[in-house]
Formats: sequence, C-alpha cells, structure tokens
Amino acid sequence: MIRSYKEMHQMSVMNLGDFWAAEAEKLHWFKPWERVLDDSNAPFFRWFPGGETNLCYNAVDRHALGDRGDKPAIIWESPEMGQSEVITFRELYQRVNRFSAVLKGKNVNKGDRVLIYMPMVPEAIIAVLACARIGAIHSVVFAGFSFESLADRINDSSPKMLICSDGSKRKGKVIHLKKIVDRALEAAKVKVPHVLVFDRGIDEWEPVVGRDLYWREEVENVGDVLVEPERMLATDPSYILYTSGTTGKPKGVVRDTGGYMVALHSSMTQIYGCGPDDVYWSTSDIGWVVGHSYIIYGPLLLGIPSVVFEGTPDNPNPGIWWDIVDKHRVTVLFSAPTGMRMLRKFPVHWIQDHDLSSLRHIFLAGEPLDEPTYQWVTETLNKPVIDHYWQTESGWPMITNHMGIETLPFNPGSPTKEAMGWHLDVVDENGEPVPAGERGFLVAHPPLPPGTLQTIWGDDQRYIDSYWSMFKRCGKDLYFSGDYAIKDEDGYFWLLGRADEVINVAGHRMGTREVEEVISSHPQVAEASAIGIDDEVKGQAIAAFVVLKEGVEETEALHKAIIDLIRDRIGPIATPKILNVVAQLPKTRSGKVMRRVLRALCEEKEMGDLSTIEDGASVDEIRNALKDMERKEG
Ligand code: AMP
Repeated sequence: MIRSYKEMHQMSVMNLGDFWAAEAEKLHWFKPWERVLDDSNAPFFRWFPGGETNLCYNAVDRHALGDRGDKPAIIWESPEMGQSEVITFRELYQRVNRFSAVLKGKNVNKGDRVLIYMPMVPEAIIAVLACARIGAIHSVVFAGFSFESLADRINDSSPKMLICSDGSKRKGKVIHLKKIVDRALEAAKVKVPHVLVFDRGIDEWEPVVGRDLYWREEVENVGDVLVEPERMLATDPSYILYTSGTTGKPKGVVRDTGGYMVALHSSMTQIYGCGPDDVYWSTSDIGWVVGHSYIIYGPLLLGIPSVVFEGTPDNPNPGIWWDIVDKHRVTVLFSAPTGMRMLRKFPVHWIQDHDLSSLRHIFLAGEPLDEPTYQWVTETLNKPVIDHYWQTESGWPMITNHMGIETLPFNPGSPTKEAMGWHLDVVDENGEPVPAGERGFLVAHPPLPPGTLQTIWGDDQRYIDSYWSMFKRCGKDLYFSGDYAIKDEDGYFWLLGRADEVINVAGHRMGTREVEEVISSHPQVAEASAIGIDDEVKGQAIAAFVVLKEGVEETEALHKAIIDLIRDRIGPIATPKILNVVAQLPKTRSGKVMRRVLRALCEEKEMGDLSTIEDGASVDEIRNALKDMERKEG
C-alpha cells in the first residue's frame, strides 16, 4: 500500500520505533538490536544499541555473494586521465578484501583511525570500504586541502595510517598530493607510522624508508584473501569528517555505523526513488559528506552502480557530464547549483545534443538553489529538479521532496518538507515558533534521526556547545542548524542562508574565523575580517579586509603573499575574490567588527543602522577602496 507523504512522515516522528525498525530489517545484522533508540543520555542519541552489523558487508558482500555479483558497483570515469573502469560487486568484494588484509597486516585494527587523502579513483572507495570492513575509523580529507589543513586533521585524529596517491590532475595541472602529505607530516605534532601511496605515475616522489609503502606491492603481497567483516556495534563510530564551524578549528563530525546505514538505505528508495535497476551519479567528491553518503555508501547499500567521476564539468568540454549520463544510462543525478550555474554559461547544445532519456530526475543540494538556475535546469533538461537541504552533521537530507513516496507540488526556491524522522521548526531567539511566513532560526526537535552526528571527535562539550546550547538558556532542547529559514502556511521550508559566520563557497563550507586567523598570522598584518558575498557562479565568495601593521606599506607582493598564505593553509577554494587593505575596519564601540556593514558595502546594498559604529570614516574608506578596485578591473 502506498502511503501519503504526510502519513509516512507522521509515523516516522510519532512512532519512530516501528518506523525505523522496519527500515533496519531490510539490512543484514549479525545480532539484532536491543532497542531502536536509546535517548537516556540526550543529546547523545544512540540508534539500534546492542545490534551488530557491518557497513562493508551490507554495501558489498550482500550483493557480491547474492544475485548481484556481476552487476556494476563502481563506474569510474576520469576525463582528466583519459581512463575509465567498471568494477562489478564481485570484483569490488575481492579488492576490498585484499586491501583489508593490507590494513590488518600493518596493524590497523578496529577503532584505529585511517586518514585518506585521495583523488576520485576507485582505490579511494576501496580504502574507505576496507576501513569499514575491519572497523577502522576512516577520515577522508578533501584532496584540495592544503598541507596545513591536513596537518590539523592529522593532529586531531592521530591516524595509524595515511593513504594518498602520488598526485592527481585538475584540468591537466598536476596536484602534488604526496608532496603535500610529506609537508603535512613534517608540520604535524602527531607521528603517523605508515603512509601508503597509490602510485598513478603522475608525479615523482621520494619514499621515506620505513614509513612509506606502495599500494600495488602491498596488495600483491597479500594475494587472494578474505577478511571476515568485523562485527561492529551499531553505535560504534564509522568515520570522522571535518567541517568548518564558527571558530578557526575544524570540527570532526563523528558518524555511527548502524543508524547511518539504515538512514542512507531508506533515503535511497524514499527520497531518491531508486530501485534495483537504477544508475546513480553524484558529481560531488568523496572529501565531502555527499561523497560519503551518495557516492560510496548510499548506492552500494542498495546494490546499484555509483558513477565516480574524476574531473570538472567543463573539461574537455561542457558536454562531458552529459556524455557520461548518456553512455552509462544514468537515471538519477545529484549535483550542486554551482555546477549548473557554471554550465549555464555555455550554449545548451552541449547538453541537449545527448540522449538523456534515461535520466528521471536531478537532485541539487549544498547551497541555496536560486530561481533562475532552477528554471534553467528544468527547461534545459526537461526533467524534474529537486532541491534538497542538508548538512555534514545530518549525514543525509533534512528537507526534501520524496520521489519514492509521494511527490509534493514543486515550489521553486523551497526544498519542500521534512525528510522522514526530522521534526523541524522555525523559531525566534527564545526558541518559540515564529508565525508562518516569518523568518527565524531553523531547528530540529530531539531526537535527531538515525545517521546524524554523534558528537565532535574528542570533544563532547563542543558538540553540545555548537548545536544544543543556543536555546538552552530558555529551557529548550533544540538542535540549531546554523541556518535562517521560513516555514510557510503550507509547511514548506525556505532557506535564507547561514545565521552564523559560516561562508558557503560553491557548496563548500568555510568559517570566516578560519580565513581571518590565517590572514592575521601574516607577520605584517594587524587584523583582518572576512565575509561571504554573493557570487554569480559560486553562490558565495570571500571578501577579506586587511589592516596592516604600523609602517608596513601595501605592495602587490604583500597582496600575493597573503593570498598564497590562504591557499597554502586552507586550500585554493578559500582564495578571496576581494582582498582589500584598509586603514581600519568598521567596528562597534565595543570593538566588534560590523560584518553586515562590510557585506552591504561589497554588495552595494543599504547599510542599515550605523549608530553603533565607532568611526564612520572607515565606511567611506572601504567604499572608496572597492570603487578603486572596480575601476582597475574594468
Ligand atoms: P555542508 O555541511 O558543507 O554540506 O553545508 C551545509 C550548509 O549548506 C547548510 O547548513 C546550508 O547553509 C547550506 N545548504 C545545503 N543545502 C542547501 C539547500 N538546498 N538550500 C539552501 N542552503 C543549503
């Protein structure tokens, strides 16, 4: 019997035990759970306590040893390297087993951390699945992050092994991954016993004797072996994924095993509407949460092929994504508005010259989907476009339309309504719901559904402080998403951007504090402020305002040095669009930088109330500096 969205959602919130038990029963458990939810230590919600399972067993063995062994599991396309590969579930099973034996042979065991700094190659996914198989906690670091970002993550997670490749390519340019790893390990306080290198013959590198290992050699040495999947408690951590917060230090979001597995598996059918014959492609990267959930685990848990893409949407030409959709008969595509805005710059024949009849719908997430982009994608592809909203913390969608339940009417600009198990609200600063149509803070009522973050690695207090403290002073237990939203009279949610100081560049999250701390660490800089400004393609871009130390002269070399510092410490994605040296920052009398003033100046918008500003001259100076910049550029 097909139920309505409303009925299903109500059940998932009001009768969550039965709802999630029914979903969990669709997967393999070595030992059944004792309870569906333990909320005795809120806000540390524990799903399926007592149950024993294994993510890799469910994502790989179940299909390889069942009737899907000959079906493709991974379809790898690398326009960067001019290579492609199709790996069946059976082959994946063999390769994951062998690599699990390599890890075990190097004394990597249950609970140990393994850091993965890899490009989009099948071996990265094999490494992730092997960790899950033996119960090691993987932490994938986006292979565009700098050596300092990597060193921070090494220090925080103390991995027993780091897996990388020699290099990768981006639009033909070599990225020296192993060299970045070497620098990170020199800078890190924590020593990592082994670095395992998947050598692609892209870049020269010097092995460190006794520490560095060759992937191929190690895999050959173990031969054809099987490694029993570890019986993991549902509540055991499966991975750590770092994300930006409002302070300089990234937060290691910890994910469990059983709850995550159940949530992802059910989202594949209920949200994405997938069945056994689907071909799923998420164009994201394994370094982000979307990559974890919907390049690796989601499709594989369902036993369907996942397209793994190493490249960019416009290389070798803007038709490349659609070549791949056409070639592999992709049925569900998941991307970000940024990717679509980038393609919009090119003539539509690059898309429309392909046979896209296999494609059923396109999901977009990661940043607000503006109406012009929504209209353009819908018209160009002539397919339903589903905006959905979620976060690294949630692990899977929080607000979405459900293609596998009941499709609700589309409302461009709104990602629709709550996903199963999510009970969301829009509240004022006292945690009281605001009237329909009014702006407020987007919050979730406890318990958070399965699959959501368990804590911050090594810092339970930070988990409470970051997500549960905002409304505590009014006696309310509410999870704060960090976003502003509106709930309209029909119950649709509309996202209005971050309420905290987090910027979203091309769907990637960065704390303004992170950028400011890096700029301020330059010996010639006195202070700095960074904000997010609207950007036509990337959604948001960074604008940074810098005050130099007394007597320091502004030069082009200094500009470049600051930009290089940001690229080195955080990565090229954090390169500011605007970097302006000013004599002073607009501050309140209490010394707080007035970011909204900076934002209004950059976006040429109304300045609002300036009565608390300490020195109005700072506003004129910045306005003039921005005008100067515009003159120079144009
Ligand atoms: P991340 O954890 O890096 O995936 O970033 C999550 C943040 O991206 C959310 O808190 C939102 O600010 C933003 N975001 C994600 N999806 C959407 C969406 N569909 N609409 C608006 N904002 C979104």
